[in-house]
Amino acid sequence: MDTDDLLKRLERDGVENLWVIYHDYSGRSAAKTVPIEGFASAVERGVVFAVANLSFRLGDHQSEGATFLADSGDFFALPVPETYSLIPYHTATARVYTTMRKDDGAVWDGCPRTRLLKLLNDYAAAGLSIKVGLEPEFMLFEQIGENEYRPADKDGMFVLAGLDRHYPLWDKLIRNLRDMGVTIEQLGKEYGPGQYEGTTLYDSPLKAIDDYLTFKEVLRACARDAGYIASFMPKPYEHLPGNGLHLHISLWNEDGTQDLTPGARDDIPLSTTGEHFVAGLLTHARALTGVGCPIANSYKRLQPGSWAPAHICWGVGNRAALVRVPGMGTRRHIEFRSGDNAANPFIHLTAVLAAGLDGIINQTQIPPPANDDVGHLSNEEAKARGFDLLPRSLSDAMTALEDDAVVCEGLGSIISTEFLKIKRSEYDAYKLHVHPWERQIYLEAL
Ligand code: GLU
Ligand code: MG
Repeated sequence: MDTDDLLKRLERDGVENLWVIYHDYSGRSAAKTVPIEGFASAVERGVVFAVANLSFRLGDHQSEGATFLADSGDFFALPVPETYSLIPYHTATARVYTTMRKDDGAVWDGCPRTRLLKLLNDYAAAGLSIKVGLEPEFMLFEQIGENEYRPADKDGMFVLAGLDRHYPLWDKLIRNLRDMGVTIEQLGKEYGPGQYEGTTLYDSPLKAIDDYLTFKEVLRACARDAGYIASFMPKPYEHLPGNGLHLHISLWNEDGTQDLTPGARDDIPLSTTGEHFVAGLLTHARALTGVGCPIANSYKRLQPGSWAPAHICWGVGNRAALVRVPGMGTRRHIEFRSGDNAANPFIHLTAVLAAGLDGIINQTQIPPPANDDVGHLSNEEAKARGFDLLPRSLSDAMTALEDDAVVCEGLGSIISTEFLKIKRSEYDAYKLHVHPWERQIYLEAL
């Protein structure tokens, strides 16, 4: 579909309002709605936003030392025609995702979608292509007061009652997504109170990410209409499971017809290319944590023994490992488990693919797999077996990211520089805050 096709499609579908959406460096969906009078201009030139919007951290404060300020001008969010979709739960309204362009329409390296495309071209130059499936976990909450929430149920892991209880919501979600061209592969109750997990079908990286973003946006809307809040926060409560985002990646030949991930025999987990790719992920794991686990709260999820990874290792069928090959036979692909849904998925996947390509180019050797639950090893045992810990805080992860030239180059200097500033600024605000736990423990005792 090109620009003309998109304009014709808007007319044919009777659209009166078009949501033009971009995703900021914190992964938030940001948008303007354009009424019918502005369609031609929006579709051909894009919709204007301040570049400074991209320097804002979560909580809507401009980050300390931001590069993009009031005098930094604008970018244009230029619709990507193939991302067009009607929004089935609003009248005569459609949405389109965008690529960020400079004022004069030129390609801009500050655009996460553009950087991912560049990495995919680097893979094509190496005779490879990528397919991805995303597996987000989230929780349903009821709001019971100002900043007070309660999980929407107490049902156990994959217990039918949990699926049944909110079935009108799931049914509506799946139907809306289907109407928007997004196929849900599976959706079910996860481990903790109110926790669920939905997977979208694996596909090319851009389609898979667009589907994931659509899933998040539509789920939020459907949950809100049902009286709930759907939250992707990595660790809402210390005693409940965290919400991860597992990336399921496979390596294919350039035209995507031959899966090059598995080993030559059924009992060999990975091909040589697959092994080098995984070795690249392990080599750059610390920096990748900074990108994929980008808020202070992310580090409360990455705890040993929680099924979220805490150590740098890989394994077959091992949910405690950072990189898991789910199983043998037809299940041989690469699951990267540290990331969460606070990441911008374009930035996250670009970093992961840059690390994997570095492993392929340098033919980095993979260490032996971890065959047991590394989360239950003592620090000394883990160290003796060569399983280093992932960064234990956002601050450590940001240092690791800054020091990793491969990952920063993959993201490009505009995104890596601003991302570090935003996340450090947010972390500084977090560090200054006096948390309720401190008053609970210290106020009367001291
Ligand atoms: N909730 C876990 C995480 O935070 C993952 C559980 C699972 O293996 O699905 O990554
Ligand atoms: Mg899960």
